[in-house]
Amino acid sequence: MKGHVFVIAAPSGTGKTTICHRILERDPHLRLSVSHTTREPRKGEVDGVDYHFVDRETFRELVESGAFLEHAEYNGNEYGTSWQAIEGPLETGEDVVLEIEVQGAAQVRERLPEACLIFLLPPSLEVLAERLRSRGTDDETAIRHRLALVDRELEAAGIFDYAIINDDLERAVSEVLEVIHAVRAGETAVVDEKYGRATVLARWNRHRGGASSRPVRHEA
Ligand code: ADP
Ligand code: 5GP
Repeated sequence: MKGHVFVIAAPSGTGKTTICHRILERDPHLRLSVSHTTREPRKGEVDGVDYHFVDRETFRELVESGAFLEHAEYNGNEYGTSWQAIEGPLETGEDVVLEIEVQGAAQVRERLPEACLIFLLPPSLEVLAERLRSRGTDDETAIRHRLALVDRELEAAGIFDYAIINDDLERAVSEVLEVIHAVRAGETAVVDEKYGRATVLARWNRHRGGASSRPVRHEA
């Protein structure tokens, strides 16, 4: 395969979708992998563009036929990246972005060890909860479910190559692109230093370690 695979994962509400749209606008060599899901389409979502929306039976058949690079259950629904979604662009030398949750990212790490895994972090857990509420796409029960998954998602960040904090959106977009361009060029020393997962997570955990983390879970 000539292109690179970039996995972008983050706790729900961090800003993955927003950042992925912006990086795709700014880098013409990036293609977004369109996943399959059993979730119901949200208002405005288009089949084949946002997701391939399928029923559970179809999803199970696809799993059994080996159609997926990775797949996982998240918040009661199935999600998966098909090989078909990534092979075309990779063969023609385009790079592919997978916007997926952390269990799927771990499967990509195993099956495509050369993939680059980028974890996005919210500035804090309070901000994460605010973003989920202000997005207005989920009811309070769904938001609570999403927040309940955050600790497990943060634990999984250990398998990622890079971590980037989505505080100022434009800065985070530029930083993700900086990583992508460095990996593409095969010159990662600078981004390893600036955005290497261990360094950024240690900094983020120190910041989070104050009184700030718990109220979110109580509110939720
Ligand atoms: P995810 O895809 O990770 O669930 P979204 O991209 O849907 O997250 O973002 C969640 C909400 O936060 C959206 O309303 C989005 O507009 C907003 N948002 C994303 N990034 C930022 C940012 N850096 N600053 C403020 N709001 C943001
Ligand atoms: P949403 O329902 O908000 O669109 O997505 C819920 C979660 O599923 C998000 O974290 C999103 O990144 C993730 N997701 C979307 N597509 C895939 C996929 O193909 N595989 C996996 N593992 N997760 C996915």
